[in-house]
Amino acid sequence: EVVILRIGHRPERDQRVTTHVALTGRALGACGMYLAASDKGVVQSVLDVAERWGGQFFCEDNIRWRTCIKDWKAAGGKVAHLTMYGINLPDIIEEIRPCEKLLVVVGAEKVPGEMYGLADYNVAVTGQPHSEIASLALFLDRYHDGREFAGEFPGAKIRIIPSRAGKQTEEL
Ligand code: SAM
Repeated sequence: EVVILRIGHRPERDQRVTTHVALTGRALGACGMYLAASDKGVVQSVLDVAERWGGQFFCEDNIRWRTCIKDWKAAGGKVAHLTMYGINLPDIIEEIRPCEKLLVVVGAEKVPGEMYGLADYNVAVTGQPHSEIASLALFLDRYHDGREFAGEFPGAKIRIIPSRAGKQTEEL
């Protein structure tokens, strides 16, 4: 079970990126996203996609991130915080992979210093500044070792039929 915790979200400017964090997580095998802010717009658009494209992805806003981390750990889970200041992904992923209950934390603008101490793992997807969407995608791919490409989304109303040219879909 992998769940995303999105912190630092500013509704006036991060809606699109936060939505993409959730959709990327969903596509690449996460079960849901906790959002440490109030933003029903994000929640609704993520749930709309999940409803149409299948699977069980959840999205909850108004989460208090410290409590969320505390409860997660109390339930036996581990916490991986994605940050360029952490240990480079290839050097730590083997240690993380056996954790079956994993909370992956991504920030927005500035992550509180406290987060670095709360995480079991601070993981860098290179030591260069870039994006929470890109770092989450690469992290999940390494964590699942590519198995996310075989992911299934039961209950979908629509499915893509992969094709070399053009767009083919099937309504279910
Ligand atoms: N400058 C901010 C800071 O120092 O806290 C981070 C801003 S960045 C646009 C937003 C988020 O993207 C970060 O909180 C982190 O989760 C993720 N991120 C960006 N670059 C990363 C990297 N190289 N490795 C891992 N995560 C990264």
